[in-house]
Amino acid sequence: MKIKFLGAAREVTGSCFIIETDKVRFAIDCGMHQGSAEIEKRNWDTEAYEPANINFFIITHAHIDHSGLLPRMAQKGFKGSVYATEPTGDLIKILLLDSAHIQETESTLKTKRMQRNGKQEKIVPLYSTKDAQDVFPLIKTKRYNEVFSPTNGIKANFQDAGHILGAAILELFIEENGSSTKVVFSGDIGRRHQLLMKDPVTISEADYLFMESTYGDRNHKGEEDSLNEMAEAIQFSYSRGEKVIIPAFAVERTQEMLYSLYLINRDGKLPKDMPVIIDSPLAIKATEIFRRYRSYLDSETQSLLKDGEDPLNLPQLQFSSSTEQSMKINEMKGSAVIISASGMANAGRIRHHLRHNLWRPGASIVFVGFQAEGTPGRKIVDGAKKIRIFNEDIAIKAKIWTIGGFSAHAGQSQLMDWLGKFLNKKMPVFLVHGETAAQEILSSLIKQKLGFEVKIPEYLEEIKIKTGVQLEEFKKPQAAKRQINLTPLFADLKEKFNYISNHMEKIQSLPKSKQVEILDLLKQANLNIDEIKSEL
Ligand SMILES: [Zn+2]
Ligand SMILES: [Zn+2]
Repeated sequence: MKIKFLGAAREVTGSCFIIETDKVRFAIDCGMHQGSAEIEKRNWDTEAYEPANINFFIITHAHIDHSGLLPRMAQKGFKGSVYATEPTGDLIKILLLDSAHIQETESTLKTKRMQRNGKQEKIVPLYSTKDAQDVFPLIKTKRYNEVFSPTNGIKANFQDAGHILGAAILELFIEENGSSTKVVFSGDIGRRHQLLMKDPVTISEADYLFMESTYGDRNHKGEEDSLNEMAEAIQFSYSRGEKVIIPAFAVERTQEMLYSLYLINRDGKLPKDMPVIIDSPLAIKATEIFRRYRSYLDSETQSLLKDGEDPLNLPQLQFSSSTEQSMKINEMKGSAVIISASGMANAGRIRHHLRHNLWRPGASIVFVGFQAEGTPGRKIVDGAKKIRIFNEDIAIKAKIWTIGGFSAHAGQSQLMDWLGKFLNKKMPVFLVHGETAAQEILSSLIKQKLGFEVKIPEYLEEIKIKTGVQLEEFKKPQAAKRQINLTPLFADLKEKFNYISNHMEKIQSLPKSKQVEILDLLKQANLNIDEIKSEL
């Protein structure tokens, strides 16, 4: 069989692995690519997927980087089934509708911008609400440990990955030419002792493993330290009358933050007059789904619920669903905790809260999840002094907190422990869903401590595998090699700057109004250059 990597290859987002046997072509995950403009272009490049020729998808969990391109597939001719666990089936629906709404809003804004610019072009969204709705009837849900057969010769089984509600590790049994091969996809592996979720199930048998490596280079702080750090952030901004802003994915992160605040409140460390606001309609809906699937939650949460306690509630909790309510938060005086999406600050309402608070010394921005390369969240975490939000440069004066101990991903040592349970030491391990630097560190650790053969595939790479035979063939398409040549553009730019500076006299002889226009354009160019400088 052949396996093609259409994402999460030397990066974290865009998970999608297409498997082709002699009888069938199907895919594991269908994630959206998120990050720089160059990466996001891949969302439009649907040809590489050949959607009409995909028989079915198996989705490991609802996060958009694993499910977000399903509507695009439906739009481009995919008509097969989409297999997922029961909670994933429910979560996918609200997440895809939300994602379609974001796509539609952004294309409308872009079209308006073009019109103001005198162009008549209409920008189409990546996909629409209807495309998202077209996916719903295709979804078929399964429970953990309910072995199912999507087609002759293929059996699949979901195991609890302990990452988010309904997240699964996928065991695949593929029959080809009379022999059976077991391939395991780890999906995203949860952190042990995570609030709400059970610990990830360990697997001991596989011929081939595709394992995530998001935190391949580091361990997280302990849970207790993380709660203390969160309480410290709250105290810091409360005593200064400022806000605590928590960018958090609507699913899981937000619920875990609620749970953490519940624990902090129980310890008497959450001021009673400090409102906690969830500003995300999606998070409100996701929280309802969490309540619906009690049996999927860990025993601590279940016993709290049994005792009549509600770890997803607080006396001072407020929800804001409408845009008007959301805007009122920005006008609100005094201290508050605001949880809003997206978690990497690249879309959604969180951008408004950052715009209103990033420049305020005394405010806190608390990052509790992974920040992918190229996202605003990553820039802030990496110490940028300024950031551009809605075409405006915002100074970063707020206190930035990065609390890794809340992560929904296993840290390095937990990944090693999980992998160490596999008995077949000849099993090749493919590291996916991680940035190259983290993957290389994890790869050498695995080779040294566990002795597995490790491969780090590239985007669009294709491999051929057979049981008993090691990897047969590697195809590395040219497209996988990113080639960005800045030199000609830079030379052109230099020439133009020289031209302008040689014509200073001419500019100064122009009417005042023209000069003001030129000044504005130069200021804009100057800001762009500053932004490039801040990357270096
Ligand atoms: Zn995930
Ligand atoms: Zn993921």
